[in-house]
Amino acid sequence: MRKIGLVGWRGMVGSVLVARMREEKDFDLIEPFFFTTSQAGQNSPEVAGETSVLIEAFDIAALKGMDIIITCQGSRYTNDVYYKLRRSGWSGYWIDAASALRMKDHTMIVLDPVNLGLIQESLINGVRDFIGGNCTVSLMLMGLGGLFKSNLVEWASAMTYQAASGAGAKHMRELILQMSAISSSVGARIDNPELGILDIDKAVTQCVRSEAFPVDNWGFPLGGSLLPWIGDLKENGQSEEEWKNEIETNKILGNNESAIRLDGLCVRVGAMRCHSQALTIKLRENLDVADIEDLILESNPWADIVPNEKHATLERLTPAAVAGSLAVPVGRIRKMNIGGRYISAFTTGDQLLWGAAEPIRRMLRVVLDYLG
Ligand code: NAP
Repeated sequence: MRKIGLVGWRGMVGSVLVARMREEKDFDLIEPFFFTTSQAGQNSPEVAGETSVLIEAFDIAALKGMDIIITCQGSRYTNDVYYKLRRSGWSGYWIDAASALRMKDHTMIVLDPVNLGLIQESLINGVRDFIGGNCTVSLMLMGLGGLFKSNLVEWASAMTYQAASGAGAKHMRELILQMSAISSSVGARIDNPELGILDIDKAVTQCVRSEAFPVDNWGFPLGGSLLPWIGDLKENGQSEEEWKNEIETNKILGNNESAIRLDGLCVRVGAMRCHSQALTIKLRENLDVADIEDLILESNPWADIVPNEKHATLERLTPAAVAGSLAVPVGRIRKMNIGGRYISAFTTGDQLLWGAAEPIRRMLRVVLDYLG
């Protein structure tokens, strides 16, 4: 059996990855080795009723013994270890959830329901570095990949509504603390029907603006508000998250950098783990909505169509409905007033699954199949 090194397995993305690997019985196919940056010598999680000892994740000699390394540890770890490991002569497969290597020439961004053909070609051509894409980009392509793969998208604008989980576990906790502080600021007054809603609203506004409001991680109130900026500023005025859309989408599809023009604003909202996005798409052809829906449905087993009806949309096309599931529903598909080649669409998906853990879990299977 191939030796697989797992780094970052106890973090948020890593925990989702390991849970999915257990569900899909991936551990039956591999010999796993658990690495750690902080707990070397302690017991690993149990696999097939057995535990082992956690290995130091900066130990290049130990990493060199692996056929495949999967890391969810983050970019700092990747930058620290990857080049040392390659310089040491290691020629195994590196599968990584962090962004550090995504746009390097020697890497592929993996999202096999969308680009399996390119991944297989790259394996034959000797590529050994496979990196998970940005969560929002991967979710857009899981939902609307049918249109992109058929080369029907001339340009698109994605306005996002991104969940707290994209910023990490501490941020998720702080969002709940913020919600809790808001609730406490109103207290029993919420149950008093005599009290005007404007008094309650005033208490909430005072609470989110107060010095005591918990913002150590977010820096600003997210609960009861939103944050229309994610990542650093790029030279052209985009945020880093907005910049990733065009460049990563085209890399995943094997296009040149700007073959399909994509842009939009990325906004953090108070959802826990589902990223949503509202898209305006200019198609290359004036297709019927039914044909568009067929292309989406046929593109992969997880993309689903929600009819453009109020009840179905509110029931099925929300973070509350989709969290924890691999389904990527797409709805609000309709021709826009602007013209027949312009459509709107809305999609939501679990960003810890298709946005992070699932593409790299599936990449392990692709490499194992390739190695035979
Ligand atoms: P995380 O939860 O902060 O975990 C990273 C590491 O922190 C763990 O592997 C663990 O390493 C260490 N750690 C320290 N204290 C811990 C504790 N109490 N519980 C669990 N782990 C603890 O990071 P993450 O959010 O999973 O992100 C990991 C990477 O995936 C990042 O590069 C991120 O950019 C990327 N990514 C994240 C998302 C997302 O939605 N969050 C999406 C796509 C990609 P040791 O065991 O070595 O101590």
